[in-house]
Amino acid sequence: MRENVAVPKSEVAGNNAPIIVVGAGPVGLFQALSLYLKGIECFIMERRNAAISDTRSLGIHPPCLDMLEELGLLSEFLKKGIRVDKGIAHNGRKKLGEINFSSTQLSGQKHPYILIHPQNETEALLKRAFTDIGPNKIQYGCEVIGFQDHGGHVVVHSQMVHDPLSPASPKVQEHKTPMLIACDGKNSALRTYAAIQYNGRPYPDTYTMGDFPDPDTPQSPPFVYITSEGLVESFPIADQKRRWVIKTDHYQSNPQPAWLSEAIHKRVGEMPDSSNCTMISSFGVQHHRAALRQKNRLFLVGDAAHVVSPIGGQGMNLGWLGAWQLAKDVKKLHEKGFLYSPSENPIPATSYSSDFDSVITEVARRAHWNMRMGRKSKLQWLKQLFIQILLSIPPSSRKLAERFTMSNLPTK
Ligand SMILES: Cc1cc2nc3c(=O)[nH]c(=O)nc-3n(C[C@H](O)[C@H](O)[C@H](O)COP(=O)(O)OP(=O)(O)OC[C@H]3O[C@@H](n4cnc5c(N)ncnc54)[C@H](O)[C@@H]3O)c2cc1C
Repeated sequence: MRENVAVPKSEVAGNNAPIIVVGAGPVGLFQALSLYLKGIECFIMERRNAAISDTRSLGIHPPCLDMLEELGLLSEFLKKGIRVDKGIAHNGRKKLGEINFSSTQLSGQKHPYILIHPQNETEALLKRAFTDIGPNKIQYGCEVIGFQDHGGHVVVHSQMVHDPLSPASPKVQEHKTPMLIACDGKNSALRTYAAIQYNGRPYPDTYTMGDFPDPDTPQSPPFVYITSEGLVESFPIADQKRRWVIKTDHYQSNPQPAWLSEAIHKRVGEMPDSSNCTMISSFGVQHHRAALRQKNRLFLVGDAAHVVSPIGGQGMNLGWLGAWQLAKDVKKLHEKGFLYSPSENPIPATSYSSDFDSVITEVARRAHWNMRMGRKSKLQWLKQLFIQILLSIPPSSRKLAERFTMSNLPTK
């Protein structure tokens, strides 16, 4: 079903209905909590029935730690997360230098460290915080299949995910809402229904990652190895494990732990215990940006609006920064009487829809730089020398720490 396709009538809520957020991924949940903090009612529709189990996104950066503090959630995150104050740059044979994240205190960071917190646990914590606000805040197993924007409000069409054992087809439900916020991921159906272009392309770069036991965690810091065979990264993660990521020449469709362990050994001399590898997968990277983040009362947030290379770990954090900005904009719209408009008037462009572009551009630029530094090059020695010099001069080392911690972004 697409935007503006008629569906059978069912119950439509009256005035002052809550905002609908589509998707209970990390950005949808964060969006909902940010709206509540601003006193705006909302609820989430999520088509999944089960929580995700993978640890995809690991790093939470200082600007987002400030936001978690405002939401009253930072202490919960600190309980399970691993605090990382510095990273080591290495070439596989010798240390090139250290990046001290604590130096970002000088540029005003209140929490000058990166918190390693796996995405599945991040989602679980945000979900608990949101459902603690009140009952029926998230409808699971509910897929949004279309919507109609009537200028002054939106009617959302959804249905319960079909049980293949049930002979009856699911009934289409209608919900009236003043605003529809699509946090439905990079393949956003709502973006497609609204015919908004998603511009970008895949990068040629491919990677394989795996989680291995590491009894030294969390004492040992993250390492970024710039080697002649390509990038290797390793981070401490929960439960005394370590995440290893290597750049590969081609996409490895069926990577095996012993192969990954051997490749790491060849590049950096370490041999993670492949017999106890708990996760292994390969991924390609891409960058995309929606041509619009606002179309009257529809907003795209998170991966639905932008995808950057995950090298440097900024994608979810960028989604949170956008959600935070949008929550501030929604409060202003509400105060000016635009949210529950008595007329059928469209709402004005928000700061999120116009100014947030510069934040996405800067984050994408940093992610691109991280990725380029990890590529093989004939002048690898020059790249290593460049990093060594950068890290040996305090002001440039601090600049690098700022880039890696998402500091000094042009947020409002
Ligand atoms: C290997 C890897 C490592 C990464 N590491 C980091 C990192 O360290 N730091 C970082 O910041 N980011 C990282 N990222 C990026 C991060 O994982 C994503 O940016 C993040 O998951 C985006 O969250 P989201 O909520 O926007 O989308 P998603 O996580 O995709 O969630 C979308 C949700 O919407 C639901 N949905 C979809 N369509 C509908 C519909 N029609 N109706 C109802 N529900 C629907 C889906 O079921 C899903 O739950 C990494 C990504 C990868 C691939």
